[in-house]
Parts: sequence; C-alpha cells; structure tokens
Amino acid sequence: MAHRTEHTFATPTEVEPGILRLTLPLPTGTRHVHCYFLRGDDGWLLVDTGLGLMETPWDEILAQLDGPVARIFITHMHPDHVGGAEAAAEATGAPVFQGRLDYTQCERVWGTDDWPERIAEWFLRHGVPPHVADELIESGHVFADFVKFAWNPTLVDPGDELDGWRIHATPGHADGHLVLHRGDVLIAGDTILTPITPAIGLYPQSRPDPLGDYMESLQLVSELAPRISYGGHGEPVTEPEARCAAIVEHHALRLDKTEAALTTAPRSGYDLSHEVFGGELAPIQRRFAVAETLSHLERLVALGRAGRIEDDRTVAYTAQLAGGRPPF
Ligand SMILES: [Zn+2]
Repeated sequence: MAHRTEHTFATPTEVEPGILRLTLPLPTGTRHVHCYFLRGDDGWLLVDTGLGLMETPWDEILAQLDGPVARIFITHMHPDHVGGAEAAAEATGAPVFQGRLDYTQCERVWGTDDWPERIAEWFLRHGVPPHVADELIESGHVFADFVKFAWNPTLVDPGDELDGWRIHATPGHADGHLVLHRGDVLIAGDTILTPITPAIGLYPQSRPDPLGDYMESLQLVSELAPRISYGGHGEPVTEPEARCAAIVEHHALRLDKTEAALTTAPRSGYDLSHEVFGGELAPIQRRFAVAETLSHLERLVALGRAGRIEDDRTVAYTAQLAGGRPPF
C-alpha cells in the first residue's frame, strides 16, 4: 500500500538517544531530505545539509540544540545532501568532512560551468536526441544553482572515524558514497532506503559498473548487520538485512526486464530506457531513466548477458547470443 510520511520540517526530532533527525524540504522528487545530528564528545556531528536553494533557517534550527555543531559530514555529493554545506558551515562555524573520491566528483560536477554540456554530449552518445539533450543542458544549469557545496573540506577515507563512528564506502548511488556505523546503528545516506529504492545510474567519468558496486555495498551493509538504518529519505529501515535482500531482488527483476528488451540489432540506452521505464517522462526523469538503464546494461555486459558496441560517436547494446558470440 502506498504510504506517505508527514514530515515536520526544520525541527530537529530525537529518533533515539543521541540521534536527532532534521528534515528539510525539496522542490522535487521525494519532497524531503533527512539530515541527522549525532551527539559527539564536544558537540553535534551534522550529517548532510539539504539543498542550497531554499533558505534553510540554520540559526533557528541550531537554537533548538543543546550544544554546538562541532563537525559536518557529507555522505555524498548529490544536490540534496551537499547543496547546503556552505550555508551550514557558515552558520555553525564547523569544519566539513567529505570523502576524498566524493569531493573530487563534487568539484568536477558542481565546481565547473561546463558539466551540463559534458553530460549532454555523453547522453548524445547514448542515443538521446539533440532536442532532449538541449533540455538536459538547461535543467542542468538550473540545478547547479541549488548546489552551494563547501570548498576544500577535510577529506576522509573509508576506515576513518568521526566521533566514534566508523566510515565505510558504499559506492553505487554515488561512486564516493560514505556511511557511518557505530554500535548497531547505520547512518546510511541514500545507500538503503524505504519505501523507495535508491537510483543507481551510470554517468560520465565515473566508475564503470555502478550496479556491480552497489551489490557489493548491499553485501557490506548486510555484514555490518545494523539493528536500524537511518537514511536520507523515507522511513528508518528497521530490518536492514531484509531490506538489502529486497533491493537485490528489485534489481534482479530490472536486469531481466532490460535483458528482455535487447535484440540482435544494437539499441541505444535512450531507446531501451523507454521499454524499461516507459515512454512518457519529463526531461529530468528521462535523465534518471537513461542513467539507470545504462547501469543495468553495463551490469548485463559485465555478467556476459549483453553486448556493447561502441564507436567514436555512439554506444549501443545487443542481446548476447548463446555461446556469447557477437551477433555478426
Ligand atoms: Zn538523496
């Protein structure tokens, strides 16, 4: 049954001793994002920062806490998590900690002016028609305005600790995605969510098989076996291992659906996205649909269940014939 959560925005709410959840509004998608305050030795550790677009009332929010924010940690460089980092750092005076790989990608995507053009060019290679690519450029520039990340954060790596929380890498939703684990609690960012499943997309200049990475990340979460996982959207996950298994199953079915759409004649990721995600989508949703179709196609190629045909201008995919031979 569809389940809609009512959220109280901008009021830190205790979800268990030492952990407060702060929910901020988003203009699109899930309409909300969760940030967390984790009690540390010398103040709160703030995890994620919302968008930089809406004026987040940080002073009002901070006044509700019983102590200062000593540190800010970013799980990944997507707009709804890193976009408010500069404002949060300014309001709190706290240093920002971000993953080494994640910050490299953050700067490349949000710290340059030409990312929308580069991503549009890449989409053209994957069969996106020019007029759709133009719309992507436009929406990309608009989106970039929401992202006010913090320049030159303190870089962290998997294995490091912050206030007793161990940092783990969980690539998939973003290449450099990090989570925090302490005791039996996971602060998951967008690694596992419920009721939605995190988008796993392929993007230019990123790791080649994000869905393969993500399957390993789900394995890691299962091995950490937390009692509860607090994510960036939706409900806390109270049975993380079962949720990981359900997400694996979701992608297994989508892989089957993607494979079934392949033919001996090469088809582009854009073309195939219509079969996997349907034909009627707004440009921003088509962008996610193409990226997500491509991550499944690349996983199929890695598994020997699809072929990739590439030249200077285009990339396309074919069914894998029995015996694994190319279709010509
Ligand atoms: Zn998110």
